[in-house]
Amino acid sequence: MNDRDLPRIVPLIDLRLSALPMPVTDHLPESRISGTGQLTDTLGRPLRDLRISVTDRCNFRCNYCMPKAIFDKDYAYLPHQALLSFEEITRVAKVFVAHGVQKIRLTGGEPLLRKNVELLVEQLAALRTPQGQALDITLTTNGSLLARKARELKAAGLQRVTVSLDGLDDTVFRSMNDVDFPVADVLAGIEAAQAAGLGPIKINMVVKRGTNEHEILPMARHFRGSGIVLRFIEYMDVGATNGWRMNEVLPSSEVVKLIHAELPLVQLEPSNPGETAARWGYADACGQHDKALGEIGVISSVTQAFCGSCNRARLSTEGKLFLCLFASKGYDLRSLIRGDASDADLSSAIGHIWQGRSDRYSELRSALAPDTGFGGRRVEMSYIGG
Ligand code: SF4
Repeated sequence: MNDRDLPRIVPLIDLRLSALPMPVTDHLPESRISGTGQLTDTLGRPLRDLRISVTDRCNFRCNYCMPKAIFDKDYAYLPHQALLSFEEITRVAKVFVAHGVQKIRLTGGEPLLRKNVELLVEQLAALRTPQGQALDITLTTNGSLLARKARELKAAGLQRVTVSLDGLDDTVFRSMNDVDFPVADVLAGIEAAQAAGLGPIKINMVVKRGTNEHEILPMARHFRGSGIVLRFIEYMDVGATNGWRMNEVLPSSEVVKLIHAELPLVQLEPSNPGETAARWGYADACGQHDKALGEIGVISSVTQAFCGSCNRARLSTEGKLFLCLFASKGYDLRSLIRGDASDADLSSAIGHIWQGRSDRYSELRSALAPDTGFGGRRVEMSYIGG
């Protein structure tokens, strides 16, 4: 099987504008792949986790993801008709579930900006795995609208949320979101999510050396014993607009050392295969994990790559399938979804795409000298979700 048999690949100058529709008959491989839940890629990795971006818009301008200088007032967002509808998203999600997906994460941009997103949650929550299991439906948000939406989302079937929060100090937080948004409103959103039962809640803090590393200990002290899992994410060279430099990365090993010096930690086993975070539990006086104190996580895509167990696919808000967060090419599924392709056609196309997957960007990057770029122009994280 070679690239000629796979659906059309679109070079990533600006995918949103340059994608070509995919005529069904010409490009779909003869051999059919149906949903058996056993699909693996060229590195033997199963397809278990689907991240769906439901909007390319956001009300924050975090400089490591959507720098204001690029995503300014003249930035051309996708027209609404270009976005997959909730029904189209649910249809393609069903096909992914038949291929083995057990977890769906809604992302963006900021997913809560998508009008009535709880209706999509309801549709996805009704899906079942081939074994009849409910899916793990979760959502990543900047928390700005969470206080208003938490109850509706829970009622619609959302199980958990992950909230991005890069500091507790209001000045630091406002400068990192770059829209002067107050930290108090995000903390209120986290409280509302906890009250609505959207847990266990996870908090994602991107650590950028020279910007917010002094917030690591205040954050750890604040969430320790709260039942909320705080994760520290190494600053990544996602996309092509955040001006990433290796010397602004604070390796997770230093984060763990810093916290351990004040709040002793003990390493924990991964809770599931493909988990991105390495887990560290707060220790009691005997050095054992004290569950009441909880745990933290570190996500070390730069210094400790975890591509070997990466079972994640990403669907952009207009139906392009990406096989890696650092991808520089995508597959246009929307023309299949909006064309005359059957679900079996869609299943076969997705099957062939995943089977041919060999992505392991972080592993390859870590073998290179710092700041050595490679590969094509990477897709923006705000477009396919983190
Ligand atoms: S770099 Fe790509 S392949 Fe590696 S873990 Fe991240 S998304 Fe997966």
